[in-house]
Formats: sequence, structure tokens, C-alpha cells
Amino acid sequence: MNPSNNVGDQKGTKISIIQALRINGPVARIELTKLTGLSRATVSLAIAELIESHLVQETETRPSTGGRPAILLELTPHANIVIGADYSNQNWTVGAFDLPGNVVQEMGIPVTSNSPELVVKALTDRLGDFIAKLPTRPMELIGLGLPGLVDVNRGIIKSASDLGWAEVDISMIVQEQFGWPSAVLNRHRARGLAECRFGAGKDFAEVIYIGVGTGIAAGLFNHRQLLFGAVGGAGELGHITIDPDGPLCPCGNNGCLQQLASGPAMEQAFRMLLRAGGRSDIYPDNRHDLQLINAEMICAGANKGDELCVKVVDQAAGFLGIAMATMVNIMNPGVIILGGAIPLSCKRYVATATQVMHRRAMSPLTANVTVKTAAYHEIGGAMGAANFALDLHMSYSLFKK
Ligand SMILES: [Zn+2]
Repeated sequence: MNPSNNVGDQKGTKISIIQALRINGPVARIELTKLTGLSRATVSLAIAELIESHLVQETETRPSTGGRPAILLELTPHANIVIGADYSNQNWTVGAFDLPGNVVQEMGIPVTSNSPELVVKALTDRLGDFIAKLPTRPMELIGLGLPGLVDVNRGIIKSASDLGWAEVDISMIVQEQFGWPSAVLNRHRARGLAECRFGAGKDFAEVIYIGVGTGIAAGLFNHRQLLFGAVGGAGELGHITIDPDGPLCPCGNNGCLQQLASGPAMEQAFRMLLRAGGRSDIYPDNRHDLQLINAEMICAGANKGDELCVKVVDQAAGFLGIAMATMVNIMNPGVIILGGAIPLSCKRYVATATQVMHRRAMSPLTANVTVKTAAYHEIGGAMGAANFALDLHMSYSLFKK
């Protein structure tokens, strides 16, 4: 056998094993042979070397049906660190994570500019200090979760209507400013990836994550693998048509889900009801500027039982429930995870959307769906983006030496 090929095979074997542990969490040796398709002997040899190099460790045993309890293998906490960042509402949330998904360090960076170069510069200017405070040197790559439709193959934002960006080569800007390779994906899909691997979806094979804030987008996971589609656009749930004659959306369509069920849609609906003579405790007299009313206030009002707020929340959540029912019939998920500012701050929104989903989807399918709220808040996007960067560049980074 050619020795160099042998070395290459061993590296490939180790990467397959690490990738299986990253995607599935702690598993027994026997499960690793099934997940990787490698022989028992090959897995055993590679595991011994990975344990020796402190990348993998044995962990608690799990009772098995008959026979000995199986020893599980897991990625060693804090052995390697990877950095991710999420850009949302003019703020970077930056995180350093180990491979099992622990947050090692985090920081927020407010951004005042809107040009892509300056938004990235606000991040790269602070990265050096952030890295200097880490307990160990991180892998030289960074994952970014960004708004809009992102071409994950080329690291380009195709369009982000909130920011007015189109065809922005973010990967090149990061490379020029910081010198590290990067991986870029939609921020909602990044949050979904963190939930699937480490959060509310970690015990499920078929996972749908739906983020609801100023926009709406989904991350779809088939056998725990994120679906991208041809250009990374799979999961643009915010732009499916709910009302053919509904309000115009920046995407060019009418009646998109995002125009009916997002935070701004709720604010718009609330203002219309007030102008029509509606009354609400969150707007007790007419002294306030109607534009100051925000979705967080409406969510808080609905949680307290304010009638007008409840009406607005139920209407918006009802539209999301229709979209969830459609997704249940198409994807047959085990779990739907609702994340983003609206579901995380409004129990009523989640409850109504779930009820409508159960009413409208095929009952044998909804009978097996669990609806959960996200385990991670802002840090989830950075965590998912860091993991996406590792998915793309692990071979380059982990075995660089
Ligand atoms: Zn749209």
C-alpha cells in the first residue's frame, strides 16, 4: 500500500468519525460503524488515535437492552475552539465554541454603519482582542450568520432586502480584512443548525426550525442534515404565499407569510386596529406616537391578556400555523422548533400557531410532532454559523498540523 494514501485514508476516517459525533452527539462504537459505514476494526483503530490526541473521549455508559451497557464516545470539551458570529438588528453576536457545542466566550458588537464593508469591519476590528482572551488559539476560520438569501457555495449574499444589500461577496470581504476563510449562511438557518445539533432538536432525526422576528425563515433538517437546495435558499418559508391578495412583500410577491406573521406585520395590524377605534392597555391614551409601538410590547400585552394584543397575536400566529401545517404534510418532522424574538417572548403566539397546525395538518402526522421553543437565543446564530464553517473546512482546520 502506498504510505501517503494510507495517511490520507486515516485522516478521512477520523474526519468521518468526528463528523458523525458532531452531528449525532455521543454514540457507542457500534453505532459509529453504522453511521460511518466503516468497519469495526477501522473505527476502533481511529478511535484509539483520536482518544490519544485528546479529540475524543469515553463518557458515561448507557443501559442497553440485554448484554453489557455500552460505553459512549464524545468529542472532548474545549479541545478545539471555533468562532462564529451572527448579524441581526445592527448588532454582531460573536461566540467561541468547542466541538461539543459549549460556549467558551461571547461578546456583542453594536454597528452603526450599513455598508457591507463597514459592517464586517466592525466585527474584524474586535476579533483580535476577542481571540487574545481565549484559553487556547482557535481554528483559523469563521462562520457568519447573516440576513437574507445567501449563496452558501460562494459565500455571497444574493439579496437582503432589510439591509438593501444585493450580490455582496461577504467571504471575500472577510478574507481581505482578516485573512481567514469564512463560511456564510442565513442567520435563521444558522440558529436552526445550533438547535438541531445541541438544542431543542438534539434528540430528533427530522427537524424543522422556524425563526420569527423582523423576518421569517426556516432551517430544514433531513436525518439531521441541513437542506440547502441549489443555491442555499431551501427554507425561505417567509415568502410562501398565504393570501394571494395580501400586502406586497419586498420580494415582489403579494401575501407572503412574512407580511402576515412577523413582528412588523403584528405592529402594522395593531396600528390598523387602533386607528379603527380599538383600545389597548399598552396604548392607554392617544399621546404616544403609533410608530413607537413595537412587537415586543404587543407580545408582552398578549401575555398579560390585553384583548387587542391577543387578537393581533392570534391572527399572526394563525398564519404561521397554516405554514407549519403545510410543512408537517411536506416534511413529516419529529419536532418543529420556534425561535426568534416573537416565539421566545410570546407563549400565546406559540400556543395559537401549534393549535392551528394541529387543526390543519393530517392528523396521523401532527400526532407525532412536538413543538418546542428554541433553547438558544442570540448566541444560537453564532453557534450554528461556527458549526457550518467547521462542516465546510474541518479537514483543513482540524488536521492542519
Ligand atoms: Zn415575500
